[in-house]
Amino acid sequence: MRESHRIELPRIVLVGAGVIEELGEICLELGFGRALIVSGRRTFKVAGERAIEILKRSGLEVKATHALRANLETVERVAGEAGDMGAEVVIGVGGGRVIDVAKMAAAKSRIEFISAPTTASHDGIASSLASIKGLGRPYSVKAVAPIAVVADSEVIAGAPYRLTASGCGDVIAKVVAVRDWRLAHEVNGEYYGEYAASLALMSSNLVMRSAELIRARDDEGYRTLIEALVSCGVAMSIAGSSRPCSGSEHLFSHALDVIAPRPALHGEQCGVGTIMMAKLHSLDWREIRESLRAVGAPTTAEELGIEPRYIVEALVRARWIRPGRYTILDEVRLTSEEAKRLAEECEVI
Ligand SMILES: [Zn+2]
Repeated sequence: MRESHRIELPRIVLVGAGVIEELGEICLELGFGRALIVSGRRTFKVAGERAIEILKRSGLEVKATHALRANLETVERVAGEAGDMGAEVVIGVGGGRVIDVAKMAAAKSRIEFISAPTTASHDGIASSLASIKGLGRPYSVKAVAPIAVVADSEVIAGAPYRLTASGCGDVIAKVVAVRDWRLAHEVNGEYYGEYAASLALMSSNLVMRSAELIRARDDEGYRTLIEALVSCGVAMSIAGSSRPCSGSEHLFSHALDVIAPRPALHGEQCGVGTIMMAKLHSLDWREIRESLRAVGAPTTAEELGIEPRYIVEALVRARWIRPGRYTILDEVRLTSEEAKRLAEECEVI
């Protein structure tokens, strides 16, 4: 048992249609006068430009910069720009890469971070963790929790649907992640938090139940997904690690990122991993597959656009990706033949 347990949570979470308009007010409320906005090429046009106007209207000094890659070089450049202008807050207005860079740059500069996601593609939008290339690890590392999350469902609904379906995959994955966490607790006595686990599991269940609404691009469906992604971030903050949200299915996705010539989206790969890991955990993997199908997320290697041999290799190599993260894969220790059989039985290959 750890002696102390530090939980960092966002102070303000705004979800809904048009909430980006409130970005200026939020900055004033939090006492910020100078902000650096980080966005991507497409997201700058979609929401970045608008964010600049909104902040200027509120009297803030604003500068904008781009983050096209989530690597160390970009983080250092953005942190430098934040320092040069004396920014008090870095605001990430964009998709996963942008949010990760803005979050890490804020952490490096020891200033605040506001998350304004333009897609619902993964659970980093409200978490304190970031996935950055160049750190020698294919999984996410500690950065800083956002002080505010401004998730405009109208902006997010305008993003390509594939990204939304991917976000569903990342949330549905928690059903396995929580099982792996409990297993690590039982086998290794690892800290396990019932509250964080329940929160992650509830998010997974709600998204599975809302699959049709999300697929229909209904605002209520989008809000459920966004709230689920935010809740997953909160679950990680409460747990003090990514444990409630990242188990063997994430290791499988990270392995694909390392070995596949052209990996698919993070949440898409996690979704497919969830089907197979659920089978190893003796969960109802067919129901999980149905939910992924209902939401329009890939359930096969072909739909991922990844050759079957990489799926098999990733299944075998996944347990070596992150030393110290005990999962079902450490129990079953799949051989190549067993991995192939598992993927075949789940009709992934
Ligand atoms: Zn994830």
